[in-house]
Amino acid sequence: MATTRKTGAKSAAKSKTGKMENSEFHEFFVDELKDIYWAEKHLVKALPKMKKAATSPELAAAFEKHTKETNNHIATLEQVFQLLGEKAQAKKCNAMDGLLKEADGVIEDTDTGTLIRDAGLILAAQKVEHYEIATYGTLVVFAENMGHNDVAELLQFTLDNEKATDIALTEVAESFVNEQAAAE
Ligand code: FE
Ligand code: FE
Repeated sequence: MATTRKTGAKSAAKSKTGKMENSEFHEFFVDELKDIYWAEKHLVKALPKMKKAATSPELAAAFEKHTKETNNHIATLEQVFQLLGEKAQAKKCNAMDGLLKEADGVIEDTDTGTLIRDAGLILAAQKVEHYEIATYGTLVVFAENMGHNDVAELLQFTLDNEKATDIALTEVAESFVNEQAAAE
């Protein structure tokens, strides 16, 4: 990011939090929100496919639960855009696009009804969760730095849910999937 670029031509609008919206950092922040908005909107379409592909009911249930939660993440981001006085807009996230292609690859490369399939799906899903954790973690700090405490709180709530999902997936992997996959 070129920090010296002038954005002075823009009009100075104020958000509900009273912060100036014409700064380059604000624009960068909003751009990153558009990126994760795209990511969540595509993830929510991929998760039901992953659920259908899963072998164990435990993993299918975890994907179903996170589909609902991901819908909440989308709604939360829409709330964030609104608080910032910005339009909710999605901008292609190449990282999520790649991670979801990897998940597709796992389904293609493994046999239906195997726990190797589940082990692979958990790996793919945990890569997604870690990407989301990294993104929301940074966005929370950005929001705090800009004084958007209401936005930071909303994003923190999503961040906590992504972390809980990651832990839940680890539990499924460690409870039986990895061990049985190794025995297949
Ligand atoms: Fe999410
Ligand atoms: Fe997630």
